[in-house]
Amino acid sequence: MQFNPILLSGLIVAAAEAVSANAEAVTALDQAIGDGDHVVNLQRGLQALVEQREALAQLPWSEAWQKIGMVLMSTVGGASGSLFGTLFVSMGKSAKDKPLDLQGFADVFAQGVASVKLRGRTEAGEKTMVDVLQPVAEYLQVAAAQSQALPTVLLEVDRVAVAGMASTRDMVATKGRASFMAERTVGHIDAGAKTSQLMISAIANLLAKQSAPPS
Ligand code: ADP
Ligand code: MG
Repeated sequence: MQFNPILLSGLIVAAAEAVSANAEAVTALDQAIGDGDHVVNLQRGLQALVEQREALAQLPWSEAWQKIGMVLMSTVGGASGSLFGTLFVSMGKSAKDKPLDLQGFADVFAQGVASVKLRGRTEAGEKTMVDVLQPVAEYLQVAAAQSQALPTVLLEVDRVAVAGMASTRDMVATKGRASFMAERTVGHIDAGAKTSQLMISAIANLLAKQSAPPS
């Protein structure tokens, strides 16, 4: 899989639009088991990225991801700001001097997710964004090992992200603000898992559209 930095501008807009289109629904999720600010926090960061997208798209992937991470850290706030920020800063550092074919990207994303888990002291199963990020990271490793075709990979990334998001419904939150409600969080999807899925699905769907042969 080849990466073209010009793509980045479109991917940022797609991610921001996916979150905006679902803003009310995600706010309701965060109101149920958190403090309701997750979407507003995240939209502040995405808006900053949308404004800087042309400049970001000029950078090599490694630098662009580090810059994205720093913008998210300084604009989003809340637990998710430092965690999404960490994801991208770590991906950027790990992408330095690496070929970004499917295996290279799978390794970079795995490193980013490992850094999020370290930063949040979180494992999968604790009802957070990690329940979307980790299955996607694991799937990408399988896809790379099997040299799966790009259209298959993108479809499957979407499916795995949706399944990870949905899996948080039955989990008990043990990390972040939601952990204060413990057992009462069962039955609610985690807001950060939902926005992670929305952004990953939007990116995968746009890449799928762009890599499809012209009809
Ligand atoms: P806050 O909880 O500080 O208000 P946000 O509302 O912006 O922050 O983000 C909440 C989301 O952050 C949660 O839905 C969850 O997905 C994620 N989150 C919170 N704490 C952690 C953690 N320790 N590890 C991973 N993700 C976390
Ligand atoms: Mg919140």
